[in-house]
Amino acid sequence: MKSFMSMKYASLKPYVPGEQPLSVNELIKLNTNESPFPPHEGVVRAAGDAAKRLNLYCDARARELCEAYAALIGVSPDEVLPTNGSDEILYWAFLAYGDSDNPMAFPDITYGFYPVYASLLGVPARVVPLKDDMSVNVDDYIGIRAHTVLANPNAPTSVAITKDEIERLARANPGHMLIVDEAYVDYGGESCVSLIRKYENLLITHTFSKSRSLAGGRLGFGVGCAARIAELNAIKYSINPYNVSSLTQAAGLAAIEANDYYMAKAAEICEIRDDCAEKLRDLGFNVLKSSANFLFLSYGANDARPLCEALRARGILVRHFVGPRTLPYIRMSIGTRGQMNTVLEAIRAILREG
Ligand SMILES: *Cc1c(COP(=O)(O)O)cnc(C)c1O
Repeated sequence: MKSFMSMKYASLKPYVPGEQPLSVNELIKLNTNESPFPPHEGVVRAAGDAAKRLNLYCDARARELCEAYAALIGVSPDEVLPTNGSDEILYWAFLAYGDSDNPMAFPDITYGFYPVYASLLGVPARVVPLKDDMSVNVDDYIGIRAHTVLANPNAPTSVAITKDEIERLARANPGHMLIVDEAYVDYGGESCVSLIRKYENLLITHTFSKSRSLAGGRLGFGVGCAARIAELNAIKYSINPYNVSSLTQAAGLAAIEANDYYMAKAAEICEIRDDCAEKLRDLGFNVLKSSANFLFLSYGANDARPLCEALRARGILVRHFVGPRTLPYIRMSIGTRGQMNTVLEAIRAILREG
């Protein structure tokens, strides 16, 4: 069959999202790092109220949302840009800053969308291996003559680096952007938001998909100095001015009002995570030190696929990344205490069966 697709996409390998089964009732879904907790009731109510005005376009600038989020994180409204999930702001950053003279550097093991955006946009990728312990070595990026994108904490490894290390990199490469994807920062990482006025090359991305139980609503933010946000707004108004729906703007605003609820839930996830990690280590697993709402674990050096399949047979979904260094690992999101007890029981049973 003839293809009409431009040849420039001939080698495009799209991102592969984790499985979203249509019926999740009998499954324990630990494969896409969502929150196991429902949105706050105020969020449900706000989205319902907003639905009554769906005949009208949403506020393209999302002013109320910008003001509320800026106040929450201690910046000014012109330093934030709400987007359709943080995937959108990441995409726009690649669009705005990457080109054939300005490659994008990122680790060999990180969020799968970075290589996809680079390939889609024809931006050369500089892939930098993580250290043997799966942490980022900031020195590898100093003087690299490329923009850098780092997830901190990183995914799927769960490992964080310090704010001091991020600052050292921002200072060392003033001629290039440093994009820090803080999707998991509420689970024990150190945010770099307070550095945006000091380093005009810094862009931070946030999401409401994880700690704020809003993955289906699609809400993310870019946070940077006013000049960077203005540039990214130029991209936004060239693509999709109404990028955050009125339902999501209302839900996001209500989620900010319910911040205490979400932060308490994030703290609960951290407790369950640390408990679960300890029990898995006792069973002989190698579990990386996690600052996120998931664990990255291996059992010996073998392919983790049989373990994934055994878990799947028991109704437990986890994620496995087929890559030379990730093959022995599974990434398991942290669910409720009850869910994690069931998972630990299942793992014990699988190990007994050999
Ligand atoms: C989940 C995730 C995102 C966020 O995706 P959304 O588009 O906001 O749902 C961004 N970066 C990383 C590393 C993630 O794991």
